[in-house]
Amino acid sequence: MFPEHPDLERVPCLLCGEGDSRLYADFDPYQVRLCLHCDFLYLSPRLKEEQMLKAYASDYFEGGGHGYDDYSEQALAQIATHRYFLKQLKRHYSLQGRLLEPGCGYGYFLTAARSYFSYQEGLDYSATALSVAAESADKVVLGGLGEASGEKFNWIFAHQVIEHIYNPNSFLQSVHSLLLPGGHVVLTTPRARGFWHTLMGRHWSSYKVPEHVAFFTPHHLKNLLERAGFFAVRLLPFWHAFPVALVLKKAGISISGWKQQSIWIPGTTFAAVGRR
Ligand SMILES: [Zn+2]
Repeated sequence: MFPEHPDLERVPCLLCGEGDSRLYADFDPYQVRLCLHCDFLYLSPRLKEEQMLKAYASDYFEGGGHGYDDYSEQALAQIATHRYFLKQLKRHYSLQGRLLEPGCGYGYFLTAARSYFSYQEGLDYSATALSVAAESADKVVLGGLGEASGEKFNWIFAHQVIEHIYNPNSFLQSVHSLLLPGGHVVLTTPRARGFWHTLMGRHWSSYKVPEHVAFFTPHHLKNLLERAGFFAVRLLPFWHAFPVALVLKKAGISISGWKQQSIWIPGTTFAAVGRR
C-alpha cells in the first residue's frame, strides 16, 4: 500500500522548528529523531505528505501488511474504550451540542458518542471507512479539517490522529478556528516515553512507521495546545480495551472464538482536553 520507491523528506522539529536533532530509533529509511532544543520525538526522513494521503485514501483500513488489518475485529473493544472514556469525561465537562471528529475511521467513537451530542460530523480520507461511519453520524465528509461544514462546533475529538499530522501547529490552529468560544478539543495519542515505550524500546507498537510522524509526551501535547491558544488544558488517563485474541496474536499465539473478550490496559494512550 505504501509506494515501492518512497519519496522522502527531511524536516526540522515539528513543534519548535529547530533543526538540531539526534537519532533516537532507526527504521531504515525512516528515522525517529530527538529534537535537541525541545526534546520532542518526530520522524525524519519521512514519507512526503502527498504519498501518505494517497495511502490513506486507498487501502489503509483494508490491510496489506500495514494500517489496520484488525480494524473490524477491534470494533467492540474500540466502542467499549470510547464509552468508558466519555463517562470519565462527563464527570468534568458538559458533553453536548455539535461534535466534529477528524480522522473518524469506521466511526467507533461516533457510535459511542451518539447519545451525548445533537449533531455529529465525521471526516476521513478513506471513503471505505466513511461509508461505515455514516451510520453513526449526521454527516460524513471526505478529507481533513479544511472540508468541515461552515457552522462551528462545541466539541472536536481527534482520537489517535495527532501522531499522523505533518504540521501539528497548523492543525491545532484549524481546530481552534472551527470551535465556538468555550468549545473544547480532545486529543488522544500514544504515550511516548511512558511505561510501555520504555519497556518495549524500538519494538514499541506505536512506532508505526511511516504513518506515525510525531510521538507526544503529555508535556509536549499540553504545550502544543497552549501555544495554539487553548486554556484550562487538562491531561486525562485513557484506559484502552484490546481484544484478547489480538493481544495473543501479537505474542505469536493464534486462537479463535475469543473475539468478544477484552483486556483493559492503562498507559498505552493518554488524552488532553483544552478550552477555546
Ligand atoms: Zn523541537
